[in-house]
Amino acid sequence: MRTHLPIYLDRVIFEKDREVSGFLFRAENRIGVISQVADLFYEENLRIIHMTLSPVHQKYGWFLVYVDVTECQKTSEEIVEKLKKFDFIQEIKTIKPIEKGLIADSFFFPPTTNNEWVVIFRSSVLDGLFNILRERLKEAGNRQLYLEGYKVGIDAFDSYVRLLGETDKELLIRFGVEILISNGWGVGEVTEVSFEKAEGTFRVYNLFECQIAKVENKCASQFFRGALAGFCSKLFNRPMKCIETKCIRKGDNYCEFHISPK
Ligand SMILES: [Zn+2]
Repeated sequence: MRTHLPIYLDRVIFEKDREVSGFLFRAENRIGVISQVADLFYEENLRIIHMTLSPVHQKYGWFLVYVDVTECQKTSEEIVEKLKKFDFIQEIKTIKPIEKGLIADSFFFPPTTNNEWVVIFRSSVLDGLFNILRERLKEAGNRQLYLEGYKVGIDAFDSYVRLLGETDKELLIRFGVEILISNGWGVGEVTEVSFEKAEGTFRVYNLFECQIAKVENKCASQFFRGALAGFCSKLFNRPMKCIETKCIRKGDNYCEFHISPK
């Protein structure tokens, strides 16, 4: 298993007993923009706490920079005047703290991935959404989770093909594994795949669904198992089934799935 570190998606910064401020500017996304702004912040004793650039792949983007201004001798307005002198900056705003040390990003909305709106749910919220179906509807709930997952898998496949503009199976699998990790679902790896037989084995460490499942001593995945079946049905262009053979809820180190034709 590769080494991973958590990424902090917090949209709120809280630096106790510090003075914080935010600068939001629309600028040309060209070489040297960050270094010139960083040099100015360095000269003015501003410590960068957090930075966001959106969108990341266009000629112009919005840069949001939160800074610790405690050691700075100038006002935010004076810093804005200095920033305005850069020819690459077109528009600039300041974000005031809610109170000392506390600042929130209420500019960017909605968060998106692959041009689709996403909502960030903490795992404790997902816990309720997933487990209420299992607890109240028992097997019917499990079936519903599987079917929802199946649709998600098909949608994911279609959106990857739209993004990449091709249907190379190996590329789609490699891309799917990376997206799984970057979207926080789990750390996946393909352990075996046969394109001739349309079969494969897929392993996931820390799969979110099984992490939060209130199930002991048996395989717990329904939603992800369905997603894998849906994704592979499109990948292999035939109806596929997916069985979970190992699970962290049974004491295994990872969840493992076997995919084969239905
Ligand atoms: Zn599992």
